[in-house]
This record gives sequence, structure tokens and C-alpha cells, in this order.
Amino acid sequence: MPRKSLAAQAMRAALAVAIVVAIPVLAHAQAGAPPANAPAPGAAAPNMAQMTASMKEAFAPFHIIGNINYVGSKGLAIYLITTPAGAILLDTGYPDMAPQIEANIKTLGYKLSDVKILIDSHSHIDHAGGVAELKSATGARLMALAEDAPYLESGGHNDVLFGDRNLFPPAKVDRILHDGDAVTLGGVTLVPHLTAGHTPGNTTWTMVTEDKGKKLNVVFFGMISVMPNADLNGSPAYPNIGADYAHTMKVIPALPCDVFLGSNASFFNLEQKHDALAKGADPNPFIDPAGCKAFVDRTEASYQQALARQKAGAAVAPAAPGGMTVK
Ligand SMILES: [Zn+2]
Repeated sequence: MPRKSLAAQAMRAALAVAIVVAIPVLAHAQAGAPPANAPAPGAAAPNMAQMTASMKEAFAPFHIIGNINYVGSKGLAIYLITTPAGAILLDTGYPDMAPQIEANIKTLGYKLSDVKILIDSHSHIDHAGGVAELKSATGARLMALAEDAPYLESGGHNDVLFGDRNLFPPAKVDRILHDGDAVTLGGVTLVPHLTAGHTPGNTTWTMVTEDKGKKLNVVFFGMISVMPNADLNGSPAYPNIGADYAHTMKVIPALPCDVFLGSNASFFNLEQKHDALAKGADPNPFIDPAGCKAFVDRTEASYQQALARQKAGAAVAPAAPGGMTVK
């Protein structure tokens, strides 16, 4: 390989690592965890409210592939998976994003009452905050892994990383799932994989979809990276976090992945792939096994680094007091 392209590759890899580290922090900036990639000296410190607003920024809904549609924002990925018997909605965004998501569903030609099942990636305000509103607006049944269900039902109380700082309207879980329990509607099956650590029930969902007559394995990654304020040695709120992350790191490389998606748009370069698709890219750019593997590799490397730092006695970043006011 020519030297120049090696350098370009290294640059892209470095940028990708920076993004993977930065985005979960952005997604949880309201929780007060300090950014892992602090701005360079002299650079303007990013404003938390601005960062949250940019995560929520509207994004035109679109058909991704097969029976999977995008109805999320620029930063927070939310999926409408359609079947002959109705639709499944994966994630609900911040509480004040509900009208945006509802409008996106309608723009794609579906009624809110078409949504029969709600599932989530994890029980934090930025991914599950709209669950009560969406449940009420659609009449759908909420299904969640047993380990995250208490947080959905209490509206985020006693969160293992953030305590009571990011509460949201609670919703009753109608069906408690366990690792691997299939969720089926209209012949379409989604499987929850417990990929815990960020929350005790953090979920990576998989399904099979079809594109041009070909069956494709789809992975919707949950939040699988380690936050700066996560103590991998365990905390009173989450003694098993270390074992849970270790398990997660074994699960994610084993998932067959053709179509690479996740709970945050940054994981899989939403905008870039969306634009390429809109320009008629063929094959569909969301079919990206190499990108999927690179994401898993980066996540594992970053986990190993966090583990090594903490084993060497590095202090875990404290979660700052206060938090975002949800309007
Ligand atoms: Zn979270």
C-alpha cells in the first residue's frame, strides 16, 4: 500500500476513535460527565445546551433498507421497522423529541396507530425519554430487557451512572424480555442481546432484512463504549459493571453484521451514508460489514484502554452535580 494512503488511513482511524470517544459523551453531556476529548487550549469550550440541541436537530426521515426506516434526529438514531402486521419503533429520543418522531412516522406514510411494539436500546433520557408519550400516542406495547425495565418504569431513577439527574416520564413495560427472547410481529423477528455496562440492560438488537432478494443480517448497536465516569471495578450502584462489560466485549464481535446501525447516528456515519444513498449509491451504503467490524474493533480497543488505565490506578471522572433541564 502506498505510504500516502497509509497515512490517510491512519488519519481516518484516529478521527474515528476520537468520534467514538466523543459522541457518547455528547449524548450524555447533560449528565455532567466531562468530555473525554477536552478542547485544545484556547478553543471555546462546547456549550452543553448547544451540544444537546445538535443531538436533537431534525433530520428528514427516510427509508434505509429492506423494512427499516429512519425516524430519528441528526444525532439520535430511531428506527421504524415495518411488517405486514404493523410496525416496531426502536428508541424514542429525548422527551421533547416526541412530536418530531411522530411527524417523521407520518411523513413516511404511516399512522401512529400502526406502531404496535416499542423497544429501546437503553433506559437513558436521550434514547428512552419519549417512551411515555410515544406509548400513549401509538397504543403500542412496550418491551424491554428485565435489567433495564425498572429504569423505564421509574423514569430513570437511581441510574447507575447518573443517579437521579436525568429523569423522564416513566412508562409501564408490558413484556419483560430476557437476553435472546425474540420479539416477533408480522413475520419479522428482532432479537435483544444483553450488552450491558452502560446500563445494566443496555441492548443491541439484531434482525434479518432483505434487499434485492438477498437476506442481510442487521445489527443495531446499543451504547457499548465506556463513559469516563464508569468505574470498571464496580460501584455500590453497579457492582457487576466490570463483568458486564467483559461479557459485552465477547458478544459484539460474534454478531453477524451486514447492515451496520446503532443507537447513535455517529456510530455508523448516518449523514454520509444517507447522502450517498440519496445519490443512488449501489450497493446500499448501509450494507457495511467492514465499517461494522471497524466499529467493534475501536470499541474493544477503547474498552481495553479504559480497563488498563483504571487497573493502573487512574481516577475515574466524577459525574458533576447538576444536569440538563429538560424542557
Ligand atoms: Zn446512555
